[in-house]
Amino acid sequence: MQKQFDQLRASELFCPRCRTSRPVRETLLLVVPGGEIHSYRCNICGEHLGTREVKGRPGNIG
Ligand SMILES: [Zn+2]
Repeated sequence: MQKQFDQLRASELFCPRCRTSRPVRETLLLVVPGGEIHSYRCNICGEHLGTREVKGRPGNIG
C-alpha cells in the first residue's frame, strides 16, 4: 500500500535558517472574509516559512 500525501498540508518545509527540511507548526495567523490565513513556522527554530489560505466552510458564509 502506498502512502497518501495530503496535498494541501505540508508536514515539512525547507527552513532557510536550519538549511534543511524541518517539521512545521501550523498556527492561525489571521481571520479574513471567507477563510483564515494559517502560518507555517519551523518547529525547531521558529522561522516563518510561509502561509496558507484556508477557505471557510461552504454554506456557512455570512
Ligand atoms: Zn528552522
